[in-house]
Amino acid sequence: MNAIELRPIGTVHSAEKSTDRMSLQGCCAVIEIFPEYAAALEKINENSHLWVLCWFHEARRDVLATSPKRVNPDLPTYGVFALRTPSRPNPIALSLVRLDKVAENRLFVSGLDAVNGTAVLDIKPYYEHDIVFSPRTPEILPLDRQMRKKALEKEAFLHHRESCAGLRIAVRMAQVVQDRWGKLNDDELYVAVTGSACLADVIQGLTRARIANPPRFCFQPSGEIQRSAWRKNDKVISLTWLGDGNLGRMDALPDHELFRIEMS
Ligand SMILES: [Zn+2]
Repeated sequence: MNAIELRPIGTVHSAEKSTDRMSLQGCCAVIEIFPEYAAALEKINENSHLWVLCWFHEARRDVLATSPKRVNPDLPTYGVFALRTPSRPNPIALSLVRLDKVAENRLFVSGLDAVNGTAVLDIKPYYEHDIVFSPRTPEILPLDRQMRKKALEKEAFLHHRESCAGLRIAVRMAQVVQDRWGKLNDDELYVAVTGSACLADVIQGLTRARIANPPRFCFQPSGEIQRSAWRKNDKVISLTWLGDGNLGRMDALPDHELFRIEMS
C-alpha cells in the first residue's frame, strides 16, 4: 500500500501534559487551528458538539489486541478495532467534544482526551443523526466505583443537559443497580419510574430503555415520590428516595440511607 500523507491542521493546548493522567472523560482544552486553515472554521459556531480527530503520537502502533486495563484489569482481551485504546496501527484518535466558544482561530472545547501538543488532523460537526439511542455494546465497566460514577454522570449530563436534583438521584439509583447487575443498556432490563420528569429522563438516558419496540421503560409522573423499579430476568430492585431534599450530603451517605431498597 502507498503511504498516505497527513498534515496537521492544528494543535491542542491543554493543562494536561501526561497521557497517563488523562481522564477517561477528557478535559477542557483549546484547539488552535493553523492560520492557513482558519477559513475552514466559518460557521463552526453553529454547532454545539464536534468530532475531533487527533494523532496520538505516543501510542504504540505494533499492538493488535489488548485489554482495557486502565478501565478494569479483570477485563478480557479485545482486538484494537473493538476498543478505543490509543494503541493501534494508525493512532488516529476520535473524540466527541462540546464546543464552548470560538475566538478567531481557537476553539474552546470540553471533553477532549488529548494532551498538550497533540496534532489535530480533522474536525467534523456532530449531527442529530449520529445518535444511536440504544446501541449494542460490550460490558466494559470500570472496576473503580468512583470511575463508574463519573462515567454515569457524564452520560447523564450529555443526555439531560442540566445537573438538577433529578439527575443526581437518577445517577445514584442507576449506580445501585449497576453495582449489582452490571451494564444498564441491556435488552433484558426493564425500568419503571415514578417521580419527576427529570428523574425519568435521566434514567431513560442511562438505560437507553425505549417506551416501545421493545417496551422497556414506563413513567408515572409524581410530585410526592421518586421511585424506580428495575427488573432483569426474574430479579427486581425497587429504589424509593428517602431524601429530604438535602442533596449536598448525598455523596457522603450510603445507598440504604438514601433509598428504601427492596429486592426480590
Ligand atoms: Zn432536570
